[in-house]
Amino acid sequence: MDNSIFRSQFTLGILGGGQLGCMLIESCLPYNIPVSVLDSDPDAPASRMTNHFTKGDITDYETVYRFGKTVDLLTIEIENVNVEALRALKSEGVQVYPDPETIYLVQDKGLQREFYQKQGFPVPEFLLTENAEDVKKAADFLPAVHKTRKAGYDGRGVVKLRGEKDLENAFQEPGVLEKLIDIDKEISVITARSRSGKIIHFDPVELVFHDDRNMLDYLLSPADLSEQIKSEAVKLALTITESLGMIGILAVELFLDKNGKLFVNEIAPRPHNSGHQTIEGSYTSQYEQHLRAILDLPFGSTENILPSVMINLLGEDGFEGDVTYEGIEDALGMKGAYVHLYGKTKTRPFRKMGHITVLADNVGAALENAKILQKKVKVKA
Ligand code: ADP
Repeated sequence: MDNSIFRSQFTLGILGGGQLGCMLIESCLPYNIPVSVLDSDPDAPASRMTNHFTKGDITDYETVYRFGKTVDLLTIEIENVNVEALRALKSEGVQVYPDPETIYLVQDKGLQREFYQKQGFPVPEFLLTENAEDVKKAADFLPAVHKTRKAGYDGRGVVKLRGEKDLENAFQEPGVLEKLIDIDKEISVITARSRSGKIIHFDPVELVFHDDRNMLDYLLSPADLSEQIKSEAVKLALTITESLGMIGILAVELFLDKNGKLFVNEIAPRPHNSGHQTIEGSYTSQYEQHLRAILDLPFGSTENILPSVMINLLGEDGFEGDVTYEGIEDALGMKGAYVHLYGKTKTRPFRKMGHITVLADNVGAALENAKILQKKVKVKA
């Protein structure tokens, strides 16, 4: 066990200062662990949560390398970072978790799918495409989903091609064309593996998406699944975690199709949107489990204290500029509701500005309350 954090002079470095970084810092507070953050936006959510904020580009080799030299252990809250610099730092003895090669794999949806296929994990049938012309040539593969290989997130870089008339929406950059799955449920299983190989998982959650925007509408914890599907999903997530030799938190997003078959959609080797509710809903949050995994400390219990529903607070469509929040008082007055505002000063349509977790004795009751808040709480400018 590396208990260096319980001695003096230990600093954790985080690449990225978004909301996931903020919540990771929150989990460091009970241990008073000093945290350094690198982000190009001096106003990034985590910038106000640490005295050690460095403004700099996390995709730039020199910037990441120099930052990495100032910390004892380096982790990420977003995978779009300079992997070359992480490889160099690792080779010079800096502790980097997750491993740079895992981050490299996850940066590219094409490589990810090739990895799953090679390892025998179930993935939707796919083709790799170089440009939109390639996609047009594969018209008989439709209905399908076209995804950019790199730098897509929150549904950006994903387009559904149901018929030939949609082909004009294909991306003019390297992509993955995969069969459109007739989805019954989208599930996420969060696991964590420590440096000494201990492995844990949270109960699967269900992600309910806006149909058009491919963005999360709300999350149900735990997911309503048969025992068999639940154990298949967990087993799949644990096997992927092991086969990556993952160190830290891994979110495994799965599709359950209408025939009861599971497919891997994608993975994220960092704390994830589908684990926000673990802060209040579980004995130990995903953020704290990540910390314990990378520091090789004993894990906490992943059991849920109560069922929960999590809603993202997104910037309202049609509003852009200095943010104001409407209806927060309603959430504050509701039993079991926990508000998180990320402190982003500017809103724009569908930007993730915060989230609310609602706990209740059962998921149905939590959902009822979450839907009330979804109507009342608005992010505007
Ligand atoms: P992102 O990286 O932006 O989260 P995803 O690859 O997870 O992108 O896709 C976003 C959403 O699009 C998914 O959550 C799902 O709702 C839908 N989607 C993606 N791939 C498929 C597919 N093969 N079949 C059906 N729906 C899909």
